[in-house]
Amino acid sequence: MIKAVTGTKDILPNEISKWNYLESVVRSVFKSFNYSEIRTPIFEETSLFARGIGEETDIVGKEMYTFLDKGQTSITLKPEMTASVVRAYIEHSMASKQPLHKLYYISPMFRQERPQAGRLRQFHQFGAEALGSDSPMLDAEMIHMVYEILKRLGLKDLMVKINSLGIPEVRENYKKVLREFLLPKKNLLSEDSRKRFDTNILRIFDSKVESDQDLLKNAPMLINHLDEKSKNDFEIVKKILTTVKIPFEVDSKLVRGLDYYTKTTFEIVSGKVGSQNALCGGGRYDLLAEQLEGKHTPGVGFAAGIERILLACENEKSFNIPEEKLDFYIVTIGENLSEKVYEAASILRQRNFSVEFDYQNRSTKAQMREANKLNSRFVIFFGGDEYLSGMVSIKNMQSSEQRQIPISELQTINID
Ligand code: AMP
Repeated sequence: MIKAVTGTKDILPNEISKWNYLESVVRSVFKSFNYSEIRTPIFEETSLFARGIGEETDIVGKEMYTFLDKGQTSITLKPEMTASVVRAYIEHSMASKQPLHKLYYISPMFRQERPQAGRLRQFHQFGAEALGSDSPMLDAEMIHMVYEILKRLGLKDLMVKINSLGIPEVRENYKKVLREFLLPKKNLLSEDSRKRFDTNILRIFDSKVESDQDLLKNAPMLINHLDEKSKNDFEIVKKILTTVKIPFEVDSKLVRGLDYYTKTTFEIVSGKVGSQNALCGGGRYDLLAEQLEGKHTPGVGFAAGIERILLACENEKSFNIPEEKLDFYIVTIGENLSEKVYEAASILRQRNFSVEFDYQNRSTKAQMREANKLNSRFVIFFGGDEYLSGMVSIKNMQSSEQRQIPISELQTINID
């Protein structure tokens, strides 16, 4: 039997109401912050991600779905969205149209990771990017938006972690300080961390190995080496979060995997989803546009994993999704009425009511059972003597009240 590829998942009809609900919350929060949607292709030239994310990152180094197409172009299924959004921003000269663009997306992403709970190979993210301003208000806005979305989804067990990575010069200096600190201990580091020592030393902080974390205990912290501007901006971010009552914790070890971050980085973790506990991550990336050969364009953004958020909602039992209801179920009594029933359904559907009827010649009783299962607000009975005199019965399923109406009245019927 052919099955879905490892790490991919079907989203079946019984799960779709959760997805639709989450997406409606996402869209409505982004709308209230005046963000516009952007959709970019599922695949891009590989070099975009190699340059935009960084060759030494896990994503580019190990996890991308990359292949040569028939024209021998190296193509990659997008593993994240920021590089694609910035590419589109440069390609369409969006900067010339207005100074600040506030954009959001909801999209599948692809990473060849080892599948486990909360980690898939095709997964979905929603996220936002604000391009064209270095205001720390936007950094705070990112955290605020995603926090608001998670709150509206009913999640409570959340922790917001924030940090500042400063400007690149500061970070480069700090890397030297960290290198000096770790050099005498290098041989004691885990193999992965030893590699990172040479390629991306900040990422040693991400290590899950306990002995690595022990070695880092007294390490100098980047947050204590910040330049004045980064320090001030970080204070503003913290003040805004406090003003809008978003609890947060400064986590000076939060460096995140991507090379392009500057200044603010953040993550929101859930206490309810096991080891893969990050629901979202983001930060400022003032250098990315230049790395992609665009003009200097400060930017900030975040991405949140939809599957993980849904898992957290399930584990916190937070969802209170309005029940799906059908407006009308047409019960057919007797035979040879299929075109008439079809026509009546069509009249109601044109008026945007949701309508269902029987396709399988089932008994009246079985049809009523179906109407109940579908949560139909009204049942219309089509057939029998009343039908011969141009009438149908209509039953309000909540009050059980039933009345007869002329068939022609279906064209104007109102149910609210
Ligand atoms: P990142 O783009 O790595 O910062 O990830 C942002 C968010 O996307 C994470 O916090 C997760 O919620 C989600 N995410 C990342 N990778 C995966 C994956 N392989 N499977 C499911 N969700 C993921």
